[in-house]
Amino acid sequence: MSVTLIRGKPIAERIRTEVAEQVKEVGHIGLVTVLVGDDPASDVYIRLKHKAAVEAGIDATDLRLPAETNEAELLAKLAELDANADVDAILVQLPLPKHIDEAKVIRALEPAKDVDGFHPFNAGQLYLGRQTLVPATPLGVMAMLTEHEIQLDGARAVVIGRSDIVGKPMAHLLMQANATVTICHSHTRDLARHTLDADVLIAAVGVPAMVSPDMVKAGSVVVDVGINRTEAGIVGDVDPGAAELAAFMTPVPGGVGPMTIACLLQNAVRCARYRRGDIDYPA
Ligand code: NDP
Repeated sequence: MSVTLIRGKPIAERIRTEVAEQVKEVGHIGLVTVLVGDDPASDVYIRLKHKAAVEAGIDATDLRLPAETNEAELLAKLAELDANADVDAILVQLPLPKHIDEAKVIRALEPAKDVDGFHPFNAGQLYLGRQTLVPATPLGVMAMLTEHEIQLDGARAVVIGRSDIVGKPMAHLLMQANATVTICHSHTRDLARHTLDADVLIAAVGVPAMVSPDMVKAGSVVVDVGINRTEAGIVGDVDPGAAELAAFMTPVPGGVGPMTIACLLQNAVRCARYRRGDIDYPA
């Protein structure tokens, strides 16, 4: 049986076109991204997010603060943005410099403007099964699975990785779709015992090709969230040889990557709709 590749680009392009339509319906959508310092990888991410936002008609502001910015200064800036009626959505690019407490900064965001879905209120809503603003990468994975009509109800899903940004929200979304979810991490014993049981395997680890073909169940769905820069270029967390066994698999690059930005833009529309009262933000 040959594998069906789940490519992110066409799905992401469609979502971005839909977002552009929605931006016209809503009118003005203000997105402010905040980057503290000059980390080169963060700079690239911010540029990509801006380009996509502007293409969709979102009014995006690229706020850059020097690396020496202290926590109080950043919090004061965020308070200003929280209070600004022209700003619907705020994104604080992580990681922040070490002298700033990330958790404190995320908590300071107005939850309804938290376009990344990282604020504890939004994370709590997801935990409670009431999706509000959900991190874009796992949302993107769900959109890919939906697009290919992957049966999740009753399926065994295994997520490798338990970060707040990918692994945990991913596991919650899969559970809400009625999959039976196992979360694996660096302390998991005999990882292959779990992965071989997975109808749907999501790898979000950050270790190149750590999922070898012999860890993959025949006929399964394999989603590779990993983006690892190596001498051989960008590679995922799954050995491409797994395509010999999987029924569906996401490529790297060109898989989950493009979905993240598309879903971030969807979240910006959601923020704007919350603020305009088109949809209720939970009190
Ligand atoms: P983190 O480093 O925050 O989390 C990695 C997770 O993998 C941790 O839970 C860790 O376990 C677990 N882990 C590490 N080593 C092993 C191992 N040997 N066996 C099992 N589990 C292990 O990374 P992120 O969640 O932020 O990102 C994961 C990957 O996804 C990265 O490659 C990142 O670049 C990529 N990514 C891609 C995005 C996209 O748009 N496609 C967006 C965001 C991330 P523990 O908790 O025990 O430490």
